[in-house]
Amino acid sequence: MMDKLAIVVPCYNEEEVLHIAAEALRGVLDDLIAKKKIAEDSFILFVNDGSKDRTWELIEEEHKAHPVQCCGVKLAGNVGHQYALTAGLITAMNKSDVTVSIDADLQDDVTVIEEMIDKFHEGKDIVYGVRKERKTDTFFKRTTAQAFYKMMAVMGVKTVYNHADFRLMSKRAVEQFSKYKETNMFLRGMMPLIGYETDSVYYDRKERVAGESKYPLKKMIALAFNGISSFSVKPITMILGLGVFIILCSVLAAVYALISFFSGHVVPGWTSLILSIWFLGGLELIAIGMVGQYIGKIYMEVKQRPRYNIEKVLESED
Ligand code: UDP
Ligand code: MG
Repeated sequence: MMDKLAIVVPCYNEEEVLHIAAEALRGVLDDLIAKKKIAEDSFILFVNDGSKDRTWELIEEEHKAHPVQCCGVKLAGNVGHQYALTAGLITAMNKSDVTVSIDADLQDDVTVIEEMIDKFHEGKDIVYGVRKERKTDTFFKRTTAQAFYKMMAVMGVKTVYNHADFRLMSKRAVEQFSKYKETNMFLRGMMPLIGYETDSVYYDRKERVAGESKYPLKKMIALAFNGISSFSVKPITMILGLGVFIILCSVLAAVYALISFFSGHVVPGWTSLILSIWFLGGLELIAIGMVGQYIGKIYMEVKQRPRYNIEKVLESED
């Protein structure tokens, strides 16, 4: 039995690209079916993320013309890329053996989907699409994106460098992913937590075929902040560190203030004032950091993430 592939495509106001994307992806399906790499009833699942334009009507048209290959899910309202993609993956999970998620704008190279499928057949559960260079991005997008990956690494969030949300996931990887019940989701950070064997394929990212980016700076910053704050309590630990640092500074300040005091060059009251400012400042930061540690723990607990993922069990068959 051949594996059934579902290509999940989140779409928000993508009327300009929808037909082009559908055609290109149908081409990929036909090609892979002809090569006997996927099942004949493999399909594309468009997720309409509350588009305000004609995106959903176009998805309906595609479904009418290609009832098996083109399917759709309509979300009630705009929930954002990460949730739209999650909705698509979980819907596809019960109808397929393997999923590939890709943006509607065809910036990602559809031809590497075949390579992803090959890696899946070699036994990989998650295959990341990683872009080689960022030549087609504007200078601004490139530098901000790179700063973002560096920042994530500093904050201790494991992500794959230069990988966005173009990836293959096996059915069991999606099933395990669906057990992550958190509401603040940053998919790229969650994938490494699943723990199955992963691999990467490399491609050049192209320009959008049509339309404009649905990720303005505001959404990008929100995604970056969400990525850090949902995966790491390091910022809190940093406050604690800062508090300790300030207390140490207060020792130096004390030495300086006492020398000034005994050499008699100071206004009355200055020494005690300067000492209290440094010492209390440090103390307060430490206290906030300590309280923060507990809040950080509570935050991690309330996510109720699965603690492990059993990959295989060896046992006797009686
Ligand atoms: N998208 C979505 N909901 C949103 C914003 C974007 O489903 O609220 C989809 C969009 O249709 C596209 C993908 O997410 O398929 C990535 O968006 P885009 O290509 O605009 O981002 P960029 O490549 O500019 O970072
Ligand atoms: Mg794009």
